[in-house]
Amino acid sequence: MEKIKGILKRENAFREMTPADAAACEAYAKDYLGYLGIAKTERRAYDEAIRRIEALGFKELSTMDALKPGDKVYRGYHGKTLMAAVIGQKPVAEGIHVIGGHTDAPRIDIKPIPVCEKGGLAYFDTHYYGGIKKFQWVTHPLALYGVVVKPDGTKVEIAVGDKPEDPVFQITDVLPHFGAEQAGKKLNEAFDPEDMDILVGSLPVAKEEDDEDVKEKVKLNILRILEATYGITEEDLVSAELELVPAGMPRELGFDRSMIAGYGHDDRVCAYAGLRALMDLPAVPNRTGMVLLCDKEEIGSVGATGMDSTFFENSVAELIVRQDPTAGDIVVRRALEASRMLSADVCAASDPHFPSADSPNNMAKLNAGGCMIKYTGARGKGGASDARAEFIADLRRIFTAANVTWQAGELGRCEKGGGGTIALYMARYGMDVIDFGVPLLNMHAPWETATKFDCYMTYRAYKAFLED
Ligand code: MN
Ligand code: MN
Repeated sequence: MEKIKGILKRENAFREMTPADAAACEAYAKDYLGYLGIAKTERRAYDEAIRRIEALGFKELSTMDALKPGDKVYRGYHGKTLMAAVIGQKPVAEGIHVIGGHTDAPRIDIKPIPVCEKGGLAYFDTHYYGGIKKFQWVTHPLALYGVVVKPDGTKVEIAVGDKPEDPVFQITDVLPHFGAEQAGKKLNEAFDPEDMDILVGSLPVAKEEDDEDVKEKVKLNILRILEATYGITEEDLVSAELELVPAGMPRELGFDRSMIAGYGHDDRVCAYAGLRALMDLPAVPNRTGMVLLCDKEEIGSVGATGMDSTFFENSVAELIVRQDPTAGDIVVRRALEASRMLSADVCAASDPHFPSADSPNNMAKLNAGGCMIKYTGARGKGGASDARAEFIADLRRIFTAANVTWQAGELGRCEKGGGGTIALYMARYGMDVIDFGVPLLNMHAPWETATKFDCYMTYRAYKAFLED
């Protein structure tokens, strides 16, 4: 009997790689480790992306009056959300190919008036950002990153906790010996976010630096240190964006070093893959290729730097007007409708220890390649962006031709799983869009886990898509 055709496999495909591919995969993973260690906040991801693309000759769009095929440009919003593009042979007005990922990640933010003293210890008051399991973040060493901006416009950068000589910060927890009351609570009720302050000091201010008007001497000591180190006051912290993230550099995981554990894979692993795919495009692609590295996805893509803003359409309009100064609004709308996008975000990988979370037969597996998620949403696909079959069929053509290992699935067990990313905000322009990204273990934990193979195959998929 002839073998039956078209049986879909979702299995470990690592051994199917050619030696050249395996070497490229390893080099890709090493470079990604370097990127992930630097890009610990959305601002740092933005700066690092610009540093990398400027080295390749990308120019700020506002400095270009006209665009021709092969031009490489970028445009940003507020130092957080970035669009980079390589202009294709076909006019932008005929549609572009977009890879859209996000660079914000769940974390612990600092409140506007953070410094406080309790029981003779100094703390920063915090407000968490994004969907976290709070118990995972206590006792973990944390690094502090961000900016403090003064009324005269001076920007003070803070980055402390990741250099070996740096101090770190910590949210403390009760010891197990005294923890019976806590242990009896439900997991999602055991930690009150108002008690998740970070410990920043334990010493009173030196006698010669004392101020009799301030009763809280340990808090005063921290304010003195902030003034001496950064030249900032308590009031300056009101105009600050400070984020606590897990301290430490991403690491290879496992005796076989096949995986990467690190903070912020969601979604820097796809953002990086998109950026690399764009950077590795041929000098003049057929269509204009674009990567979007956006902010605020973890809290609903809100605000000026989230994808529920006009950033994307304005950026497309800015490209079009540089190719045809007479083009009107309708040209932009047609270009958006004719565009296609991979919503580049991570998905949940099947974890053998939590099979009850899996969508039977439809769960991404590690080392089976990047995963295509046709629809997101929850329950009866509520809130979904559901990609059409015709688009998926064309992606199959593209990935097969480029010898990309990919898989398909959905985001967890029906009525247990669900979620969503930026796809729905792009789909409203009428463009084809589908989620495609790297499967993760422990998504949204301080350290998340991906395999090198899946990272590399996702990059290969994005590149094939941009080159089509
Ligand atoms: Mn994400
Ligand atoms: Mn997320």
